[in-house]
Amino acid sequence: MRRWQEKDDVPTADRNVTSNVRVRFAPSPTGFLHVGGARTALFNWLFARKHGGRFVLRIEDTDVERSSQEVIQAIIEGMMWLELTPDEGPFFQSNYGEQHRATARQLLESEHAFRCFCTREALDARRQLAESEGRVWRYDRACLSLTEQEKQRFLRQGGPYAVRFLVPQGTTSFNDFVHGVTEFDNKEIEDFILLRSDGSPTYHLSVVSDDIRMRITHIIRGDDHLSNTPKQILLYRALGIEPPTFAHLPMILGPDKKRLSKRHGAVSVLEYRDMGILPEAMFNFLALLGWSPGDDRQLLSRQELIELFSFEGISRAGAVFDLQKLLWLDSQYINRLSVEELLPRVREVLRRDGLWSDDLDGPRRPWLVSLIELLRPRSRTLWDFATDGRAFLTEDFRVDSEAARKYLGEEDTGQRMAALAEALEKAGDWNPEPLERALRDLADSLGVSAARLIHPARVTLTGKAVSPGIFEVMAVLGRERTLYRLRRAATAAPISIH
Ligand code: GLU
Repeated sequence: MRRWQEKDDVPTADRNVTSNVRVRFAPSPTGFLHVGGARTALFNWLFARKHGGRFVLRIEDTDVERSSQEVIQAIIEGMMWLELTPDEGPFFQSNYGEQHRATARQLLESEHAFRCFCTREALDARRQLAESEGRVWRYDRACLSLTEQEKQRFLRQGGPYAVRFLVPQGTTSFNDFVHGVTEFDNKEIEDFILLRSDGSPTYHLSVVSDDIRMRITHIIRGDDHLSNTPKQILLYRALGIEPPTFAHLPMILGPDKKRLSKRHGAVSVLEYRDMGILPEAMFNFLALLGWSPGDDRQLLSRQELIELFSFEGISRAGAVFDLQKLLWLDSQYINRLSVEELLPRVREVLRRDGLWSDDLDGPRRPWLVSLIELLRPRSRTLWDFATDGRAFLTEDFRVDSEAARKYLGEEDTGQRMAALAEALEKAGDWNPEPLERALRDLADSLGVSAARLIHPARVTLTGKAVSPGIFEVMAVLGRERTLYRLRRAATAAPISIH
């Protein structure tokens, strides 16, 4: 991989990237790794890889009530599945409370923050009054005008206090790598709390304190955090530290253009794993959620994505999650993986459906490979190998009732199948060509179209009205099973389904 410094063609934003890139993914473990979180992790990972930087995982578990071990495990499992391996971490934010409090003390000492002794009740009463008078409520800085004596009295009485940041006058602007120059009027920003009255640090304090300690250079996250950014920039400035660069990624939308949610279907990446999506396809798909290489290429390997990724390609508009596109990408990957890569994954789905036996990876491996090759052009997820492979692995497969009604309903279907069994048995080699010749010769001699043999044979052999080419199906299914099923069709009563 060429490093960015050596490239002449990188967009401006990327040329400004300094060395020692350090980015982080900072999920709050209050929900499983959802598509949006995974996309954030992935863009951070790509950026780190592209610039030879470090990708850090920080679990923001300060909300003890809502964080759980199970969820933390699932987040890490989701990242591992996508091979978004952190270079550092996981670090747990809850381990750094002391440091966050020290950052707050530093801000108090430099008078960028102040103690607020207002009780919740007092604040609520003033808020209600403001609202009843039609005023927008923002903290009224009551505690800022306390005299030194009053403050000392409160402290002596052990009165709990919160630490609030003293928002300076003026405006706060920053050059977001996606949204461009973004400006906020500080008047709109309340003197936000850094430490609650129980001494616990808030999100803004913890995140800035951690990002400073971890020497994070670029903050790449969802644009739901855009409005948090001015507060965080104010904190950096008050601490005398140059803020990192920010890039806020567009929201992920459902097909109805509303924010993606459970209503639209699966939102956790592990649900897609369980649906039989390959991690390679999911990775490629997530990379295209709100980013494009600048042309209409869709199928991009990890390496290509690393090379092509740039902030310039990120769109500001929301990115629509298109399941059909994901399935299409998955089918592309299924058809591009080598048998060695695909086989262990097919084994997994067969095993889960009770279709696996170890000889499939022993003496029958060449046969399994031919089955995989037969099925993969039509497979969109790994589960298709189990669903479509079932009739090749057991007699216990379902016959689609619609297909049976359409193709197995005629009085003489059974006889035709028996005649076909006879003809195929004499075909010589059990290979598609002689099998096809035998079937077509039989059709001629019976004076029927080949289709009247092929369709019922397909339903008899696979249980379905659509399948790969019938002669390839017979070849892989094998002589014994093929003849057995055709003859069984002859002895069974004509199917009549109402
Ligand atoms: N923990 C925050 C979240 O999960 C992210 C914080 C950040 O990226 O600054 O939304």
